[in-house]
Amino acid sequence: MKSMKYKKILITGGLGFIGSHFVDLILNYGLKDIIVLDKYTYAASEKNLINFPKESIIRGDICNTDLVRSILQKYDIELIVNFAAESHVDNSITGPSDFIQTNIVGVSSLLTSAHEQYLRNKNFLFVQISTDEVFGSLGKEGFFNEKSAYNPSSPYSSSKASADHLVMAWHRTYGLPTIITHCSNNYGPRQHIEKLIPKTITNMLAGKNVPIYGNGQNVRDWIHVKDHCYGIFLAITEGKIGERYCFGGKCEMNNIDLVNLIADRLTLRHPERNFKELIEFSQDRLGHDFRYAIDDAKAVRDLGFARGYRSMYNAIDDVIDSYAMTSST
Ligand code: NAD
Repeated sequence: MKSMKYKKILITGGLGFIGSHFVDLILNYGLKDIIVLDKYTYAASEKNLINFPKESIIRGDICNTDLVRSILQKYDIELIVNFAAESHVDNSITGPSDFIQTNIVGVSSLLTSAHEQYLRNKNFLFVQISTDEVFGSLGKEGFFNEKSAYNPSSPYSSSKASADHLVMAWHRTYGLPTIITHCSNNYGPRQHIEKLIPKTITNMLAGKNVPIYGNGQNVRDWIHVKDHCYGIFLAITEGKIGERYCFGGKCEMNNIDLVNLIADRLTLRHPERNFKELIEFSQDRLGHDFRYAIDDAKAVRDLGFARGYRSMYNAIDDVIDSYAMTSST
C-alpha cells in the first residue's frame, strides 16, 4: 500500500458512527494531525472518540463557510473526508429540510472553502462519503456499480445524490481533486439506535416490539463498518482523482432474516426468553427501495480492496455485545 501523502486531515461528522471508526483507523496508521468538525446533532457522541484529544474536536456546522474556511487556513488542511450528514431515511421522509440543508447546502459550503484551500495548497483532496442509495432500487437480480445511473428514491438519497453532483461539478469545473465513495449498509458498534440492527438488539433486550416495514422482504447488502473505513482509506491512498468507488459487503440479507438472526443469537444468551414474538410487521415505508447490492470489482481490482469480515454471521455477536453493554450501563 502507498503511504498517505495527506498529513493534515479534517474529518467532518467524526463523532458519528462511520466517521468515528475512520478516525480510529487513521490514528492506527500513525496519522496525528486530525481535526474533527461536528455539529453535535442527536447522532453524535463524544463516547465514539474516547481515544481522540478533545481539543481537536470543533463543534460547528459544515454549512458555516466562514468557520470551515478558518479551519482549513489555520490547520493548512490537505484532506477533507466528509462524513457529516443527516443519515436516517425515515427522518428525511418526516422532515426533509435538515437533509437539504446539511447534505446539499453543507457540501456546497465545504466545496467552496475546499477550492480556496486547494488554490493555497496543491497537495489537497476532498473525499465525499456517499451511499449506494443514490442509485435507487434493484429488482431481484443485478448489482450497482460505478456505472449505475443515479435514480434516488427518498429525500435522504436524493440529497446525497445532489451532493455527489456538486462534488463532480467542482472537480470538472474548478479542477478540485475529489473522490466519491458509495457504500452499502454498514453495521458495527456505535451505530445510532434509530437504525435497524441496533434498534432490533436494544428493543429485544428491553422486551420492546421490533417493528419491521412491510413484509420484511426488502434486501440490503451489509458491510462491517471497519471494512468500509478500510475501503475509504484505500480510495485515498490508491485511488485516482476524479473517480468514484463502490464498496459492498457481499452479504445480502432480507430484513426479516436479519432480525430473526439477531433473535436466534440473543436466544443463545437468554434461552428462557422468546425474542421472535417481539417482531411486528408495520405499514411499509413510503418509497421503500426493494433491494440494494453492490458489485465492488473496481475497488478490488484498482485499490486492492478486501473485506476482513467475511460475513455478518461471524461478526454479529460482537455487535450484540457492544449494544448489550450499552444497554446495561
Ligand atoms: P451518523 O448519522 O451516525 O453521523 C453523522 C455525523 O454528522 C454526526 O456526528 C452528526 O453530528 C454530524 N453532522 C450532521 N450534520 C452536520 C453538520 N451540518 N455539520 C457538521 N456535522 C454534522 O451517520 P453515519 O451512519 O456515520 O454516516 C456517515 C456518512 O456515511 C453519511 O454521509 C452517510 O450518508 C454515509 N453512509 C452511511 C451508511 C450507513 O449504513 N450508515 C452507508 C453508506 C453511506
